[in-house]
Amino acid sequence: MVQTIFSDTIVALSTPPGAGALAVVRLSGPAAVVITAAVFSKKSLTQAAGHTLHYGTLRDPDTGEIIDEVVVALYRAPRSFTREDVVEISCHGSDYVVRQVLALLLRHGARLAEAGEFTKRAFLNGAMDLAQAEAVADLIAADSALSHKVALNQLRGGFSQELRDLRARLVQFAALLELELDFGEEDVEFADRTGLARLLAEVRGVVLGLLRSFELGNVIKNGITAVIAGRPNAGKSTLLNALLREERAIVSAIPGTTRDFIEDEVSIDGLRFRFVDTAGLRDNPADEVEAIGVQRTRQRVKQAAMLLYLFDLSELAPAEVQAEMQELTAGLDLPVLAVGNKTDLALAETIRAFEQAFGAGQTPLVLLSAGQNQGLETLQAALVAQVRGSALENTASATIVTNVRHARALETAAAHLAAVQTGLDTGRGTELLAADLRHALAALGEITGEISSEDLLTSIFTQFCIGK
Ligand code: GDP
Repeated sequence: MVQTIFSDTIVALSTPPGAGALAVVRLSGPAAVVITAAVFSKKSLTQAAGHTLHYGTLRDPDTGEIIDEVVVALYRAPRSFTREDVVEISCHGSDYVVRQVLALLLRHGARLAEAGEFTKRAFLNGAMDLAQAEAVADLIAADSALSHKVALNQLRGGFSQELRDLRARLVQFAALLELELDFGEEDVEFADRTGLARLLAEVRGVVLGLLRSFELGNVIKNGITAVIAGRPNAGKSTLLNALLREERAIVSAIPGTTRDFIEDEVSIDGLRFRFVDTAGLRDNPADEVEAIGVQRTRQRVKQAAMLLYLFDLSELAPAEVQAEMQELTAGLDLPVLAVGNKTDLALAETIRAFEQAFGAGQTPLVLLSAGQNQGLETLQAALVAQVRGSALENTASATIVTNVRHARALETAAAHLAAVQTGLDTGRGTELLAADLRHALAALGEITGEISSEDLLTSIFTQFCIGK
């Protein structure tokens, strides 16, 4: 029998607020069933088995007023999300009904749940580890096929298992080192140093692999920022609009009117792109405001993960385009796509000249007409290929780290593992080796919550919404 640790029963609306066909009010805790039965037409609920549904009315016993016809889903500890007794009341989705139901349950002994408290209980009652609990929030927030897939894998414990395996291997060695320490003066070596060095190299390799996967994980979770830059009138706003399929940016034929940055997100093939439209680039800015705009464009390119350099095919020669791209990305290591716009106006020989000039180079060239909505699929495919190519190259591990907290913990672990490795190479004392190994283990343990503090838990679970 699983021991749950909370004596109070919490309640919250678990579906979004507002009108809907149904709303679900959820209770969790030792009195969940008794509290519900007190206001439910079927008193036999207290005797009912777990995983059963019960149709009836909710009534205020003090006034006799019927509040709603509902279906009660019953889960008995430990076979529930929180491992406690859980009741889910499906009522009609009106704010008024929900308020009445909540008030009734609160009057009969439940307490309003804090943000993330259901998931926190699931973690503290041992239903899932911390990485899995965090995946619940990610899964709820997932808005693309890939972020959904990664969150689901984490929720199902894939990442946690990998970490537990790593820790288990290190723990053995840590124990042997600690044993040596217990013998103090006696200069014994239980832990085989060569074996330890080999194990360390292996574990550190896995940790670094996971860390590298964060690059892709971050892209999957937070999207990739792509700056669209180019001369005024190249068609940046038109392209952005075409990509977003809605008229957000101000399109105008007067050069240099897009002075502020316009950002928007669009999901392409499961990846989220955040496009930033910039002020037009120009060698001799006509006025001061625009000069500032150009400065800021360079600044934005520096922060971006990718650059789309857009140009009007009939305006610039291939060599000019290449020179401008180079100037914009000088000293930066970021993928660039050259995008030639207005194919509808360009001569066939111009197009051929560009294809020839870019054919052998590193920078992919996409030709399209933003205004005529032609060639956008080619651009979308090139964008996705660019991200997948650079991020996946670095991702050997099947598990993808998406959480900043996990990435930080992995960095700490990697640093301490490196210190143990150096320590072994330079014959450092057992005490120092053992200390670094302990730190590395602690960092790995923080990810799954084998080691956790109240502060950490609070900061994680308060990011959830109420009812989760
Ligand atoms: P920006 O200054 O780079 O943001 O350029 P805009 O998006 O404001 O476009 C400048 C002008 O070029 C507008 O009049 C657009 O309608 C026009 N334009 C954009 N794309 C195309 C295209 O593919 N073909 C043609 N013919 N005109 C285009």
